[in-house]
Amino acid sequence: MPRLFSPVRGEDERAADEQRAVELQRRLDGEVTGVAITFVDHSGAGRIKLVPLEALARAARFGVGFSPVIDAFTSDGGINPASPLDRPDGDLRMVPDLEQLVVLADPAGWAWAPGDRFYQDGTVYPNCQRSFARRQVAAAQSAGLSALMAIEIEWMVGKDTDDFVPAFGGTGYGVSRFAESAGYVRDVVDSLTAAGVTVEQIHPEYGPAQFEVSVGAADPVSAADTSALAKLVISAVSARHGLRASFSPAVVTDNVGNGGHLHASFWRDGANLLAGGDGRYGLTTQGESILAALLDSLPALLAIGAPTPASYLRLQPSRWAGAYQIWGIENREAAMRLIAAPADNPGKANAELKCFDLSANPYLLTGAITAVAVRGADHPANLPPEVSGDPAAPGHPQADSAVRLPASLSDSVKALEEHDDLQAALGEDLLASYVAACRAAITLAAGQRDEQVIAAARWLI
Ligand code: GLU
Ligand code: MG
Repeated sequence: MPRLFSPVRGEDERAADEQRAVELQRRLDGEVTGVAITFVDHSGAGRIKLVPLEALARAARFGVGFSPVIDAFTSDGGINPASPLDRPDGDLRMVPDLEQLVVLADPAGWAWAPGDRFYQDGTVYPNCQRSFARRQVAAAQSAGLSALMAIEIEWMVGKDTDDFVPAFGGTGYGVSRFAESAGYVRDVVDSLTAAGVTVEQIHPEYGPAQFEVSVGAADPVSAADTSALAKLVISAVSARHGLRASFSPAVVTDNVGNGGHLHASFWRDGANLLAGGDGRYGLTTQGESILAALLDSLPALLAIGAPTPASYLRLQPSRWAGAYQIWGIENREAAMRLIAAPADNPGKANAELKCFDLSANPYLLTGAITAVAVRGADHPANLPPEVSGDPAAPGHPQADSAVRLPASLSDSVKALEEHDDLQAALGEDLLASYVAACRAAITLAAGQRDEQVIAAARWLI
């Protein structure tokens, strides 16, 4: 389990972290050179500091330094002058969460741990995305609620060039693609498994040289950790094969993109609220209220879950990306796809939010969904009528009532700024710095052709 949330990291916690690191140094001696500590910034990019194994105890006690300007970084590696964080001063301490430390097979010789950021006095840094997620999980816990989440990973594998040249042929779900790529796929599965990721299944997807891996569900913070870790591992395996992995929402102009579908279920007293109730498909009253709140909040959540201009090139009808603010049972065109539980396994019921992609900061996303769910559980609401089929198909009976989700990042940012509950959950500082990051992404893409927007986002991890 990830470290529990408390507003200040006190001396007891520092000493316990240091002690744990000393044990890890002993256990991992000779096995790894050092530990990669990562977080994900506001632009959705993973950021890293590496410490040699001998320095882990010190890093665990004091954290490693990180300038606050890092969350003013734009996806192209520049700094956004309009961000409140564009300052040369200040120092934060990024502390590895050693509960989540794993030894990696790819890249070999390293262990990995996610980092939380604190001020030097141990106070949680308000812009720390992972601490935000931890705080929402703690708030859910106080309300008697918990959530299980999993983020699916889709990626396209290119040759080692800046342009995207598919590394493998074959078709979606095609044995032919697997036959060509079996060694690569095996290394992906082995390295994810070695890193402690539960691989549920992997398959060739619809797009060019595209694959998808489904991972096991976990608490919201661990689910976000797994997403960041899986992208790192898949990138490292790809590099070892002389290839490049693109997790970008749009990799090519004329085909499907990469989604980052988020599966979620919500629990009270050990029971899944999405099963065993009297509502449609076995939903409980609270379960339906949570889903109704999520569906209603999707335009605002999109600013967090689809935060790049390229996201909106992916989010098109008839691409299974979930471009409509509708729900449906097993409907892959719905932004919210309900997966009802088999009668003998109520734990399996979950909702898949398909409109999100992997340019999202996974911690902000799982935290925001948790916050909306907590609020929804308290406010009874019904889901609107469900939709089956693709509303964009000619003659679809609900074509007129099926509302499209925001078609641009500007529109979803506007929805976020109008969403009182998400504003309250994020808090003033985090909301302001995050919105500044979105606006920087919008400015960078202004006046660019789709090809340029895609090229700029193609190789981000
Ligand atoms: N690649 C599609 C997307 O952009 C999803 C395909 C699927 O349903 O898995 O989300
Ligand atoms: Mg898929």
